[in-house]
Amino acid sequence: MPAPKFRVAICGGGISGLCLAVALSRYPNIQVDVYEATDRFKEIGAGVMIWARTWKILEQLGLGPAFSRIAHAPPDGSIGTGFDFRRSDQPQEGFTYHVVKMSYGCIRFYRVDFLDVFVDALPSGVAHFGMRLVSYSQKAGANEILLEFSNGTTGTCDLLAGCDGIKSSTRARLFKEAAERSGDVTLLKFIDPVWTGTIAYRGLIPVERLPPSHRSIANPMMYCGKSKHVVSYSISRGDVVNVVTFASEPESEGSPYSEDTGGTHCPQKELLDCYAGWEPEVEQLLSQIEKPTKWAIHHLKPLPFFVDGKVALLGDACHAMAPHEGAGAGQAIETNHERKDAFILAALLEHATHETIPFALEAYQHVRLPFANHVLKGSYGSGLMYEFNSEYGEDYKNLGPVIEKQWDWVEEPDPEKERLRALQYFKKLASRS
Ligand SMILES: Cc1cc2nc3c(=O)[nH]c(=O)nc-3n(C[C@H](O)[C@H](O)[C@H](O)COP(=O)(O)OP(=O)(O)OC[C@H]3O[C@@H](n4cnc5c(N)ncnc54)[C@H](O)[C@@H]3O)c2cc1C
Repeated sequence: MPAPKFRVAICGGGISGLCLAVALSRYPNIQVDVYEATDRFKEIGAGVMIWARTWKILEQLGLGPAFSRIAHAPPDGSIGTGFDFRRSDQPQEGFTYHVVKMSYGCIRFYRVDFLDVFVDALPSGVAHFGMRLVSYSQKAGANEILLEFSNGTTGTCDLLAGCDGIKSSTRARLFKEAAERSGDVTLLKFIDPVWTGTIAYRGLIPVERLPPSHRSIANPMMYCGKSKHVVSYSISRGDVVNVVTFASEPESEGSPYSEDTGGTHCPQKELLDCYAGWEPEVEQLLSQIEKPTKWAIHHLKPLPFFVDGKVALLGDACHAMAPHEGAGAGQAIETNHERKDAFILAALLEHATHETIPFALEAYQHVRLPFANHVLKGSYGSGLMYEFNSEYGEDYKNLGPVIEKQWDWVEEPDPEKERLRALQYFKKLASRS
């Protein structure tokens, strides 16, 4: 076995880290190691949806058949893929004010199954558990990056991919170093995520517990009210309905949130009280969630950069966003899209040498940062629209088309064109060196 041309350490084994690991492990001359803080790869028991552009990426990774087996609503439009937007915060039956028809498809999964497809595609020997990265150092002129883990061990790599989620240690280190180097302390404000002002409750309902005519079974639903909305869609081949509800104080956006942010159980009464007086269809749905979990939804301020030298941030570590366009995981995957000749980061690294890694990362950032930040801002803005807090208020006639327009990014720009743009930029930088 020839020596690898370089070694990539991936910190974090969520969707972004595992997708990158699977994409890169196809190149025998790149060594890949995934360092995961916990004792196994895991996802929460909830749904996740992706769009056709992400589906194409998964197919190009050779994972199409495996994802097809667990997908609900494949991207052929055979199962309803529109979102029905209804006014629902009144006791009498609500009304549909807009239907977003998504010809490009919205494909739904049970999260645990979704992550497992990546886990199964991971070559053996790549994963290292109980390895929480606490810090790294890349000294000017030094070839290697030194990694420090919370269990006292150390390691080295030639490129560090920080895929360690919304509370990323990699991001903290990267922005601290950049602030020290430049003397610009304002960079420190990008380290901590901020509260969007929204609390979410989540639950799963076996489909047989709903009347067969319940709209949530056939179609993704968006039940809207003032400063609140409820999203539901079926997953697991239609056996389960996934529900996420949101309740917002828009004026609190940007503030720190002190309560535990991550999925604590709460009494069902709290959920029911929050949506008391909503249309019967919503009450019927929520009454079936016996053990809701509660989440404070955070996002990042759009970051001014995703990379520093040979360190890159991916996924929620660099663009954690409000979930109102079902985009965070898809964006994390897009970062790593590989085609026959590879795509964006994986494509760039295939062409990079040890010396040109920084150029490859700069090209990755050149293409990905504006797009990911655009989706991040749009996702937050969509939430305001669903809850009648945008400039369009309750003007249903204009609101529907504007909401639909927010999803334009699902079709444009074409990921293939983005790949070519990134490669061209990389070659330009490398030729100047
Ligand atoms: C309510 C809600 C609904 C959503 N719905 C959708 C949807 O429908 N579609 C969609 O595309 N997105 C959705 N998202 C967003 C999506 O879930 C995330 O964007 C995505 O899971 C991020 O993946 P990630 O791998 O970047 O981060 P994570 O999933 O957070 O993974 C990070 C991993 O890194 C590990 N880790 C953390 N710190 C360290 C460390 N220091 N060292 C080593 N390992 C570490 C963690 O243990 C974890 O395994 C939703 C989010 C929410 C909150």
